[in-house]
Amino acid sequence: MPRPYRSGLARLPVQARSRAQLCRKPKQRPLAGWASLRAAHLKAFPACAACGSTTHVQVHHIRPVRTHPHLGLEPTNLLSLCRSMATAIDCHLDLGHLGQWDRHNAHVLATVQYMAPILHAIRAAR
Ligand SMILES: [Zn+2]
Ligand SMILES: [Zn+2]
Repeated sequence: MPRPYRSGLARLPVQARSRAQLCRKPKQRPLAGWASLRAAHLKAFPACAACGSTTHVQVHHIRPVRTHPHLGLEPTNLLSLCRSMATAIDCHLDLGHLGQWDRHNAHVLATVQYMAPILHAIRAAR
């Protein structure tokens, strides 16, 4: 009898598995017009606001859409944050969402302003 298929995730120890699942960004129903706004934002701001990386850059909502639906398509509510792991920090997950996608950093702009020189220095030293 063939062994049941087990994904790579299932083979990880429980603790690593839950961390990996936490780190996967949950799918959200996209707002109408989001794709073009997102593309325009990334064209204007191609680098991560925190570390400066230009790979795996995502668009973060400064005020969450969940609590501020009227700001979902507001260009000034958007911030480029990456998941490049160019430093030990996952800029989008850790700085934007305090390590968990269902959390939101209400002080993300201050956090990014404070962290940017540190993260740039780490990247330059690698
Ligand atoms: Zn975000
Ligand atoms: Zn970054």
